[in-house]
Amino acid sequence: MALFRRRHFTYERIRICMRTWNILYRGSLSSCNYDCGYCPFAKTSNTKEQLEQDRVAFERFIDWVAVQTNRIGILITPWGEALVHSYYRRGMAKLSHLPHVYRVSIQTNLSAPIDELTCANPRSLALWTTFHPSQVSLTRFLERCQELDVANIRYSVGAVGLREHFDAIEELRQRLGPEVYVWINAYKFEPNYYAEEEVTRLLEVDPYFGWNFKDYASAGKPCYAGESTFTVDADGDIRRCHFLHEVIGNLYQDGLETCLQPRVCTAAICDCHIGYIHRPELNLHSLYRDGLLERIPATWPQLDRLFSGQRTSLHQFV
Ligand code: SF4
Ligand code: SF4
Repeated sequence: MALFRRRHFTYERIRICMRTWNILYRGSLSSCNYDCGYCPFAKTSNTKEQLEQDRVAFERFIDWVAVQTNRIGILITPWGEALVHSYYRRGMAKLSHLPHVYRVSIQTNLSAPIDELTCANPRSLALWTTFHPSQVSLTRFLERCQELDVANIRYSVGAVGLREHFDAIEELRQRLGPEVYVWINAYKFEPNYYAEEEVTRLLEVDPYFGWNFKDYASAGKPCYAGESTFTVDADGDIRRCHFLHEVIGNLYQDGLETCLQPRVCTAAICDCHIGYIHRPELNLHSLYRDGLLERIPATWPQLDRLFSGQRTSLHQFV
């Protein structure tokens, strides 16, 4: 019994001492095979040399992660589409098997084959997938989702809430299994874009749309960005988030303990999911828990809500 207590105590101490870092990795890749009208990376390409540099940088990052002892979550947020390159698929599979990596995820249009990902650890791999109705048929996209199901790979699916895509987004929700969470990003390039009944319609698909619909006044407000979450680029430069450009250290030269500290936001607003989820006062870490990076709420699936027509109102969000 005494031995059990000692072991349990030691385990608890390790668990408490082990900090979690959530890292957003964005390499130098800047190309995409799709052609979305609102995106600067539409149908762009990188040279072989540029891709080789991006591969080397990603593998350097993986080597750095491999020798860390903290609990780590990684979300790859490429400027473009990265999973079409096999070194990203191989690298993610490798990261998924590291015992201290609780999550490795990537934002992807899901157009690439998932072959190397089928060797990944399904407990830590999860994808953030986006359906682009102007680029791929729903049937083709759902076939890709079925491949993920067969490979036991968890994923969220989302879309940008453009008015001309409402029907396609609703059909996407209907044809995916209830276990798959479908999120919607509010289209924010035009102010006051949505009529009230359109917001209600989108909340029927994504009951958490209200969180994304808003822009959060952030100046002077606490944010975990720069404390327990941060971004890393191809050179290892560390920034608090993708929206604040000041470099606060370098992954390969500086000790993280010196550059990570509690801070307040210096931007006027934060309007993107990968940013505002780190604002403690919104308490979204409780909503998503370990699904934070791939955007899967811990409470999903909400079968009662999906099948009873229960409605969410915008007034439920702060
Ligand atoms: S798939 Fe993503 S990166 Fe590619 S063009 Fe569309 S929005 Fe841009
Ligand atoms: S609130 Fe948003 S913009 Fe401000 S530090 Fe946090 S993630 Fe960055």
